[in-house]
Amino acid sequence: MSAGVAPAGRAARADFFEAWLAQGHHGTMAWMAAHDLVRVDSTQLLPGAQSVLCVADRYPAEPEWALEPGKGRIARYARGRDYHKLMKRRLHGLCDAFREQHPGESFRACVDTAPLLEREAAAAAGLGAIGKNTMLIEQGTGSWLLLGAIVTTVDIASTPSYAEDPCGTCTRCIDACPTDALTPFAMDATRCVSYLTIEHRDVIDASLHEGLQDWVFGCDICQEVCPHNQPTHRTRSATVNEAYGTHDGSVDLLSVLRWSDEDRVKAVGGTSATRAKLDMWRRNAAIVARNQLMTTPDAALSQVLDGIAVDPDEPDMVRQAASPR
Ligand code: SF4
Ligand code: SF4
Repeated sequence: MSAGVAPAGRAARADFFEAWLAQGHHGTMAWMAAHDLVRVDSTQLLPGAQSVLCVADRYPAEPEWALEPGKGRIARYARGRDYHKLMKRRLHGLCDAFREQHPGESFRACVDTAPLLEREAAAAAGLGAIGKNTMLIEQGTGSWLLLGAIVTTVDIASTPSYAEDPCGTCTRCIDACPTDALTPFAMDATRCVSYLTIEHRDVIDASLHEGLQDWVFGCDICQEVCPHNQPTHRTRSATVNEAYGTHDGSVDLLSVLRWSDEDRVKAVGGTSATRAKLDMWRRNAAIVARNQLMTTPDAALSQVLDGIAVDPDEPDMVRQAASPR
């Protein structure tokens, strides 16, 4: 785990974030806009905040494997134990230790669970620089990182941040994005496969279905293609927290289409992939299954999808996803 300290205060790219919200690029993530004033300024999150202690934990990022037909992919960060819980437990432990050392001071742990721009804070704390794919890139080891932070009233000396642009003339992530969600250093969440499969709780527009490719939960493409993430001696020897990657990252599409909520919890319980509810999982699986059927015939899968597509008891988002193209 790497760590650094940023001064509390308004984020360097606060204006950019506010414009991004104003343009509606956050989609249906209303919680992002609801706390926008707090989110861009860490002193609003904790009265008297002076510093933000930022941490980055690497998760396993083995090269992608050839997927068997009838399976869907899960993004790497969600293949193991839920980092929100795991990292938060560790940060709470740290907060307790700090409170003993600094009585009267305040500490607040954040792991994607409080209105804080963690990526911006991590960049300000020198843990890396933000690339055109909007991910934090750690020099020499890449962007397969999970972020957390402790906001505190203790005034801690800041660590230097990178001034360097990690991208130069590279545009690989922008060129590879299957839904054209990226422009340099900005992402339109309403087009991003990660947002669509994890956060969007409604019908996915048909024009974006092919872009999901094989991804049923999240998407790693803009990280997979990044030169900073290619295997090198340094990336191979970087410390990885293996708890974040404990299964093979694929699910059987036919099984998902037939899941009950109990099945969903049994399959992905304890991982970040529980964020998507049952109907979202079945919607995502239906889209991926239709994508695969365009090149690989599968009679059983076709039959199940055709049945869902005409079943009036199915939610709209699943029925539309299952409809023949
Ligand atoms: S996660 Fe996938 S869809 Fe989203 S910006 Fe990256 S490549 Fe595009
Ligand atoms: S793929 Fe290229 S442009 Fe995109 S984040 Fe990586 S270095 Fe930057």
